[in-house]
Amino acid sequence: MSTLFPDYTPAWETEDHQLLRKHAATFFTKEATPHQERWAEQQAVDREFWTKTGAAGLLCLDIHEEFGGGGGDFGHEAVVAHEKALAHDTAFGFEVHSTIVSHYVAAYASTSLKKRLMPQMASGEKVIGIAMTEPDTGSDLQAVRTTAVREGDHYVINGSKTFISNATHADLMIIVAKTDKTAGARGISLFLAEISDDTPGFTRGRVLKKIGQHGQDTRELSFVDMRVPAENLLGGEEGQGFFQLMNQLPRERLILGVTGVAMAEAAVTEAIAYAKMRHAFDQPIMDFQNTRFVLAECKTQVLAGRAFIDHCVQRAIDGTLDAATASMAKLHGTDLQVEIVDRCLQVFGGYGYMMEYPIAQMYAAARVQKIYGGTNEIMKELIGRSL
Ligand SMILES: Cc1cc2nc3c(=O)[nH]c(=O)nc-3n(C[C@H](O)[C@H](O)[C@H](O)COP(=O)(O)OP(=O)(O)OC[C@H]3O[C@@H](n4cnc5c(N)ncnc54)[C@H](O)[C@@H]3O)c2cc1C
Repeated sequence: MSTLFPDYTPAWETEDHQLLRKHAATFFTKEATPHQERWAEQQAVDREFWTKTGAAGLLCLDIHEEFGGGGGDFGHEAVVAHEKALAHDTAFGFEVHSTIVSHYVAAYASTSLKKRLMPQMASGEKVIGIAMTEPDTGSDLQAVRTTAVREGDHYVINGSKTFISNATHADLMIIVAKTDKTAGARGISLFLAEISDDTPGFTRGRVLKKIGQHGQDTRELSFVDMRVPAENLLGGEEGQGFFQLMNQLPRERLILGVTGVAMAEAAVTEAIAYAKMRHAFDQPIMDFQNTRFVLAECKTQVLAGRAFIDHCVQRAIDGTLDAATASMAKLHGTDLQVEIVDRCLQVFGGYGYMMEYPIAQMYAAARVQKIYGGTNEIMKELIGRSL
């Protein structure tokens, strides 16, 4: 729960969202905050944490109840992501699974796959990720080299992916592959693959060592003649993948903006508490005008950032959020996060550089926010095209 802005309630927030906020805050503070160091060491959250979160009713909140979801709206997902950030979690791949990828399944999978898999995604029994990026291509999605070739009632998938989130625990993976190498964007298709360590032709590669987010399981994946049933082609027709991605990416960009501003808020909250407690030259460091001015500026910027993000969340709830505005949310929210966390870390002096302090973990975790989900340069391209 926000202690920084106790009087601020976004216009979209209903009583239901507020109850969820309290519940999520209690859950993450108790079940996630104390385990950050251990999860970082093991490079993944505990597998049971997924089912715990599902049992607490915190997964797939804006998926229709018919498929086991919460029947809510984007605001419910935003509330959970916000509270997770305020609880200093940098490990749990909630957004990828719940806010982002579950919607590919909801929008494009066959009814029988949805009925079978979505309730298990909402309960956390099945974890999902999305494999777009390859060693040779990230921003330029049309250049993916992974192929999917139809053979009878299966597709045979070959290729390799990198930087894939939730890759240790994933039982399901949306794979971006070429079904026609000559057709550009129209040659791309998405497949919902059911994967396990025993799936022939599927290998989870090494867990990648990152600057931050050490508790997040980010890995390479490889597919060698891996067979996926033809039913698992999303949308039921080849060549729809690029357009499906373009439709879903705004959700991803908005939630990254939400977490960016939430982490900035968490950093300012931590820095204010520290500045009141830490003494130098016989006075709390908050009594230095510089500390007060820095934190005053940070708090102001975070509230302004929240107001813009809440405008975007409202539009997502209303179904009027366009791609360019979602890109602005990602660009602004993550740039703000990196700047504010850095300024707040300075308030901690040397302690800010020690990983046992949440501000240091936030600092290390923040940088990638400007890179994944489409780099911030690509966001500027997308916004620029709308001018
Ligand atoms: C921790 C982490 C988790 C990730 N999780 C996932 C995941 O779950 N699934 C997944 O598929 N991917 C994931 N990614 C990949 C991520 O989305 C890509 O790294 C990102 O899209 C950038 O691609 P790239 O790394 O190939 O960089 P490149 O595309 O090679 O870009 C390199 C640089 O060139 C710039 N650039 C490229 N094109 C343009 C252009 N047209 N105009 C201006 N500048 C340009 C970029 O902005 C960047 O600064 C993850 C990455 C990280 C680091």
